[in-house]
Amino acid sequence: MEYVKLINCMRCGMCLPHCPTYRETFLETASPRGRVALMRKIAEGELGTSERLLEYLSLCLDCQACATACPCGVNAGEMVAEFKCERREGEGLTFMEELVLRKLLPHPDRLEAAVAPMRVYQRSGLQKIVRKLGVLKIFSPALGRMEGLLPELPRQPLRRTIAEVTLAVGEERGRVGFFLGCVMSLVFSGASHATVRLLSLLGYTVVTPKTQKCCGAPNMLAGDRDGLLDAARFNVDLFTGHDLDFIVTDCGGCGAELKKYGHHLAGDDRAASFGARVRDISQILALHADELRDRLHPLHLTVTYHDPCHIAHCQGIRQEPRRLLNLVPGLDYRELAEADACCGSAGTYNIEKPEMSDRVLRRKVVNIRATGAEVLVTSNPGCLLQLKKALAEETPPVRVMHLTELLHRSLTAVP
Ligand code: SF4
Ligand code: SF4
Repeated sequence: MEYVKLINCMRCGMCLPHCPTYRETFLETASPRGRVALMRKIAEGELGTSERLLEYLSLCLDCQACATACPCGVNAGEMVAEFKCERREGEGLTFMEELVLRKLLPHPDRLEAAVAPMRVYQRSGLQKIVRKLGVLKIFSPALGRMEGLLPELPRQPLRRTIAEVTLAVGEERGRVGFFLGCVMSLVFSGASHATVRLLSLLGYTVVTPKTQKCCGAPNMLAGDRDGLLDAARFNVDLFTGHDLDFIVTDCGGCGAELKKYGHHLAGDDRAASFGARVRDISQILALHADELRDRLHPLHLTVTYHDPCHIAHCQGIRQEPRRLLNLVPGLDYRELAEADACCGSAGTYNIEKPEMSDRVLRRKVVNIRATGAEVLVTSNPGCLLQLKKALAEETPPVRVMHLTELLHRSLTAVP
């Protein structure tokens, strides 16, 4: 990491109230300012990298709320991720990481085949028995948590059922590429199907190349820079082969990573062009707000919105989803307190750091309940998984929907 990044912090403390781990602990070492200070002292050779010290750093959610708050442009979350990445680079991948990051994620067919037994597990009724007995939690708490987060899987991943080209309905106003995203296609195919339908109903021809690969964000998290660059090169080549105005995604995490392809592949003009054309679906839909206002049908629901970190903090998108929700006639929109605070999902953080994840999640759930909303809208698969589970356990339960599911329902509702 460039040393200059470590000396930009002027220790003002403006980031502290925005950092979820600081809010839970009131510990300087669990704050953005403290984390930057620790990394600086390591870089200056005054501190070694003890396990305890690394533990403090790894408690960071990489939510980047600190970057939004910092007047000096310090992004402590990104710096911690970079620090961990640099440390990992020399170590090589573990057996499991090699399996997941190199053998599964870059091969959508293999990934889908690996998930297929889960569908059998759910549909055979075995899941109900396992959950009732709680055997997984006894055998492996981490496995038990992972299994507990899994919602009912669709019959088929979207990649298998979606047409490679979905034609515009009516006169074509543009051509867009659709980036599927691994979890969106495998788990939330209904939401992504709604995304493609919305684009088509608004006059876009949607091209969904079937051989597209994972965006590479999991590789980045594990310090596997080569894997990330392989994914970026492949996806840039693939989408550049089509004549596209935009590359659209409905996954906050994928969008944040895809927009960085130009940076990752510096000097490659096609990667820069790819990155510049990536849009979150809310950005495209908001371009057609006037038309949507005339075409949306009433939905009599009380709704609130949770900003995914990868959309609000990493991409700076806050107004578009709210604007779109407020277009729906009959919808009672209630703003959520601390709406852009992390929900505690944060990639695999909720599995690796269950205690802190639960504390952060509880605060989010309390805020959601305080709105009185019957539906929570959000648009990132990690948040959907985390909040669906937590809010289903509430009384009365709160339904969780992707932004496009709700808008598609309103657009296609029979008046
Ligand atoms: S990281 Fe930014 S906001 Fe936080 S103390 Fe340093 S300068 Fe201030
Ligand atoms: S990324 Fe999030 S958890 Fe990490 S220091 Fe910044 S605000 Fe705190």
